[in-house]
Amino acid sequence: MNIILFGPPGAGKGTQAKYLVTKFNGFQISTGEILRNEIEKQSEIGKKIINDMNEGKFVNDEIVNKLIEKNIYDPQKKNKLIFDGYPRSLNQAKNLELLLKNSDQKIDFIFFLNVNKDIIIKRIEKRKILEKRSDDELNTILKRYETYMQTTKPVLDFYSKNTNFYEIDGSTEIDKITAKIDAFLNV
Ligand code: AMP
Repeated sequence: MNIILFGPPGAGKGTQAKYLVTKFNGFQISTGEILRNEIEKQSEIGKKIINDMNEGKFVNDEIVNKLIEKNIYDPQKKNKLIFDGYPRSLNQAKNLELLLKNSDQKIDFIFFLNVNKDIIIKRIEKRKILEKRSDDELNTILKRYETYMQTTKPVLDFYSKNTNFYEIDGSTEIDKITAKIDAFLNV
């Protein structure tokens, strides 16, 4: 089972990804976490991406695509991929199709957690206090939301035609969202 969790920052992708990881014994592929890890390690990639990340801009497709590759080709993770925050651009979506095809895999479910801007701002403000994430200043939040709307819209159009695409109201409680995901998985 390979699943994509799709939606704006603060929509609850990470929370639902962790639930799905437990349910399917899967692997959460969070590009946000992978990228933050590179910054922490102070790697060459980390140095290249730190400014974009702090400004709420998307990291270059080439870098993200490269980082994701070894996860998809990892035999241990085959058909157990839970994507959280990837793909986020049309280029990334097309890259993902190619990598999956090359490794004889496919996407089984795409869940779009749809949340409006006001709720996202409130949620990220809360997370900022709890997790002390440096990229979560209010201006950055707004920038991230705008970037998301601009760059991710074509990805949404690309996926929404698929029969395995499901839109879920992400403004409700965590348990309710999980229940909806479960209901779709059981159809
Ligand atoms: P997230 O933890 O998913 O909210 O991501 C935090 C930040 O990491 C984003 O604001 C982007 O700067 C960067 N990022 C995460 N995933 C991607 C991606 N797939 N493509 C480009 N940038 C990304």
